[in-house]
Amino acid sequence: MEARATSTIGLIGNTPLVRLESLGTGLRSEIYVKLESANPGGSVKDRTALSMVREAERIGVLQPGATIVESSSGNTGIGLALIGALTGHPVIVVAADTTSQEKLAVLRSFNAEVVLTDWTAPAESPENARNIAARLAADIPGSWRPQQFDNPGNPRAHYASTGPEIWRQTSGSVTHLVASIGTGGTISGTGAFLKDRSRGAVKVIGADPFGSVYSGGEPGEILVDGVGNTWDRADWPKTFNPEVVDQFVRIPNDGVYSMVHRLATDEGLLLGPSSGLAVAAALQTARSAPAGSTIVAIAPDAGTNYLSKTFNVLWLAKNGITLEGGG
Ligand code: PMP
Repeated sequence: MEARATSTIGLIGNTPLVRLESLGTGLRSEIYVKLESANPGGSVKDRTALSMVREAERIGVLQPGATIVESSSGNTGIGLALIGALTGHPVIVVAADTTSQEKLAVLRSFNAEVVLTDWTAPAESPENARNIAARLAADIPGSWRPQQFDNPGNPRAHYASTGPEIWRQTSGSVTHLVASIGTGGTISGTGAFLKDRSRGAVKVIGADPFGSVYSGGEPGEILVDGVGNTWDRADWPKTFNPEVVDQFVRIPNDGVYSMVHRLATDEGLLLGPSSGLAVAAALQTARSAPAGSTIVAIAPDAGTNYLSKTFNVLWLAKNGITLEGGG
């Protein structure tokens, strides 16, 4: 990690990679976790937000001082709010009404305006987050919508930064990449880079929560913020390239949340639920991978954004989640 930067934007990327000690005991492979919470906005999405804003400014669709309008489950909104604050663009975020209070508070701290809606509203519903964002943008002259689900700058940010960082940090020894999938930008961009760089040797594993159709089956309620998808394959995000994924691993909610708690208690890593999902899938991968494999799991954000949900026994109980081993 850079020890010193001349601007906050310069702190985006170059996040640390840490080896799992306790949770990795007895494995014949090593698991590393890439801590995207080290970005200044607190998540992997700072990379995406920066990449999309820079490109929009470059091609002229985002003029100085123009408003940015985006629908986001939280982290892209936070990334855009951060970049907007630094570059003089007002930011409006349409967020899920299930977004944690902590993330909403962070958004507002960076001066973003927040509009809440039902994240499960179907594409044809006026309440659908993307439809609300489209209406807002139509009403605000000169406004620009990054559209993270369609914007090639999203996966490209990871091809250009996350992938090369992992290659460098493992001295080219990485054998497996494990990542959760929201827009698919992280797994598609990082996975494509690592496959290109290793001449196809690196295996890419998609970690999917219960209720998501990425790994097949019927759609259901998804209890892991920011990841999974309940839409038909025809409506999957353009930013997700399923061909990069060699295998999907589905982790039940109890396994996801037990892993987030163990990461905190056993490794001292306070991470969000999608990180627990990826690490649980990484451990599963390690059990069948050839001995001596180097498995890298992406941890998209920190647990501090979920203290009222993931680390709240009442929220866990209300959602029927039981921590394995008594938490
Ligand atoms: N975890 C969290 C907490 C997220 O907010 C996101 C992005 N929605 C992801 C994982 C997945 O990242 P991506 O959109 O690049 O697939």
